Amino acid sequence: IFNGVDTLPPDALFDIKKRYTQDTRAHKVDLGIGAYRDNNGQPWVLPSVRRAEEKVHADKGYNHEYLPITGLPALTGGAARVIFGPEYAEDRTVSVQSISGTGALHIAAKFLAKFLPERTIYVSDPTWANHKAIFQLQGLNVASYPYWDAASKSLLLDGFLDSIDLAEEGSVFLLHACAHNPTGLDPTPEQWDAVLERLAARNHLALFDSAYQGFATGDLDRDALAVRRGVRRMASVSPVIVCQSFAKNVGMYGERVGCFHIVLPDQSSEVNSRVHGAVSSQLAKLIRSEVSNPPAYGAKIVGAILADKSLTAAWHADMVTMSSRIHAMRAALREKLVALGTPGTWDHIVEQCGMFSFTGLSPEMVRRLETQHAVYLVSSGRASIAGLNEGNVDHVARAIDEVVRH
Ligand code: PMP
Repeated sequence: IFNGVDTLPPDALFDIKKRYTQDTRAHKVDLGIGAYRDNNGQPWVLPSVRRAEEKVHADKGYNHEYLPITGLPALTGGAARVIFGPEYAEDRTVSVQSISGTGALHIAAKFLAKFLPERTIYVSDPTWANHKAIFQLQGLNVASYPYWDAASKSLLLDGFLDSIDLAEEGSVFLLHACAHNPTGLDPTPEQWDAVLERLAARNHLALFDSAYQGFATGDLDRDALAVRRGVRRMASVSPVIVCQSFAKNVGMYGERVGCFHIVLPDQSSEVNSRVHGAVSSQLAKLIRSEVSNPPAYGAKIVGAILADKSLTAAWHADMVTMSSRIHAMRAALREKLVALGTPGTWDHIVEQCGMFSFTGLSPEMVRRLETQHAVYLVSSGRASIAGLNEGNVDHVARAIDEVVRH
């Protein structure tokens, strides 16, 4: 009965990783998946994570029991405080643990498919490759809003705002909380205010995807600006959904630590408490049938970091270490391209933020980078700057120079 099942192409991003791993050239460079690497090109276990691991293991009560269905309270509460900061309204916020950011988006998709199945989800053009798939898999309609102007490498604010105005009232807008993937371009605080104003005027629902908090500016609080302003602005309008990943900023990619939050609009305390209870119960039912309960190990580590002032401070410092190294690599790459006289302008590499640079290289150039120079990146021209280091940035700059001139 499965004889007629179609074979699908492999996932583009994970296939790059596979080709990179099989490549035997010593000078190969992986700028594909957004995962932080240290200056030796190695994965980095954050010192704050090592300390938290020691603390968790030393706990006399250490075990591998199940977590509650909605997750570890130390994680979900700590995570809400990290993203919402002074805007955290505990009585109006429902927070549950998720299988990292993808799992949080999946919960969002399931929840919307159940309670708002007719609403269209608007995603930026371009956006993270998985966004569309996650919502479409639940039968939701996905459309896009203009975001990036390839010619000027800048934000299409007018087009973005027009889409908000033209979308059917009460639509869902997926917003990258910071360090937009793939463009590395975020709205300014003033532009965010304009976006939020228009969303509120149309009673739209804001869905923030926060996968890179800390990577845009190195400061976890500053990187939460859009979410916090969103929560404040929408409080009298509609709920705000936040899908939060700790994969990148805690460097626990494979441990799948994340949270899904719904901030309810500010109503009477009687309504708030009733809706809070109802939404919590629905989320618990959904999670129970999907994963029964979330994974415990990473949650305990991140929960320990968030519950201890000195560990939290150490984590913030680790965040600065990661973001400054990426920043230094942006500058080094740009400087080398300018020194080589590589045709084109390269200022965007330092102006963009987060882990990625949307280089502007064509799919043809990207292919040549891989075949001729063993430099791997996504065909869209998105390069994970975290994969650069002092030992390979020169090779990468020369390789880019060669493919641009070819
Ligand atoms: N959102 C965006 C924009 C991302 O780039 C990613 C990771 N690449 C995620 C969500 C989810 O990542 P994870 O499931 O590993 O937390």
